[in-house]
Amino acid sequence: MNKVKCLIIGSGPAGYTAAIYASRANLAPVLIEGPQLGGQLTTTTEVENFPGYPDGVEPFTMMDDMRRQAERFGTQFVSGIVTKVEFATPVTGNPSPVTHKVWVEDTDLYEADAVIIATGASAKYLGLESERTYRGRGVSACATCDGFFYRKKTVAVVGGGDTACEEANYLAGLCEKVYMIVRKPFLRASDIMQQRVLSNPKIEVLFEHNTLQLTGEGKVQGADLVYRKGEPDEEIRHITIDGFFLAIGHLPNTELFKDYLKRDAEGYIIVDGDSPRTNVPGVFAAGDCADPHYRQAVVAAGSGAKAAIEADKYIKSL
Ligand code: NDP
Repeated sequence: MNKVKCLIIGSGPAGYTAAIYASRANLAPVLIEGPQLGGQLTTTTEVENFPGYPDGVEPFTMMDDMRRQAERFGTQFVSGIVTKVEFATPVTGNPSPVTHKVWVEDTDLYEADAVIIATGASAKYLGLESERTYRGRGVSACATCDGFFYRKKTVAVVGGGDTACEEANYLAGLCEKVYMIVRKPFLRASDIMQQRVLSNPKIEVLFEHNTLQLTGEGKVQGADLVYRKGEPDEEIRHITIDGFFLAIGHLPNTELFKDYLKRDAEGYIIVDGDSPRTNVPGVFAAGDCADPHYRQAVVAAGSGAKAAIEADKYIKSL
């Protein structure tokens, strides 16, 4: 068993920033890096909107910079996946500090006074093989991150919800043309978002279309779609595009905590207002696992700092 003051789960901007702050507060944090070192950001090609990098930065470089910064102040890193947790609920009058238990790979047990969860969220993909082939070469799940690379080009956005509409509008501000590929004959998005999309001359909504595959030499150059699959008028159509943006939802990586933490209907951890406090004292949530709205690296980093500050206060109060 390993006894630590502060355990951080997740190695994205939220986790690493929490580690920088926690280690500088002498909490000697241990950070469990999880299945995707560097987090979601590393699925993008270049980061141009994180302050401090005026010429843009390669995502692995940025995440390595954050990691080294945390290491410099004494963060210990453990590579592995958290497989089980048991969060304690404090007993009134119990004189011993409450500890939370976290197992890595089922075998290594960590007992921590405070736990910071920064497990992020994963964008949903359609599951096409060609989607994997062109990941980072025309396939993206973040218009805000990657849209800029498609200035004056033609792109497609998949999905008919608020995110898809928001992304299509954002991309229409940069691109020559934006297709929206919507599987139903209507949009699911709120009225105002629908109106914006439907009144934008640069956006063409392809209702009742599904994507069969992406095509191109080394990068996305087109997509084969099927119109009204299974209906008598079913038709295969091809569109020429340079970018393919998924906006079919995100899944917060919070399943592991469901027996202890309050989550909303989509699985995002519910925190106490603007703070990173969860319903369990000593357990904090930072970054996309608790943020259904912004999903930006800089926002996640800020919430990581808040979580470490709160963890420090909590530990001092024990
Ligand atoms: P949603 O779940 O609302 O929408 C997902 C969309 O993707 C739907 O149109 C769905 O189609 C489609 N979809 C899902 N799976 C597939 C698939 N395999 N193939 C093709 N299409 C698929 O997710 P969002 O991310 O858009 O929104 C999540 C929440 O966040 C919502 O509550 C939304 O209102 C909110 N939000 C609010 C914003 C705002 O207010 N500005 C901005 C962004 C999000 P179908 O309709 O057929 O199921």
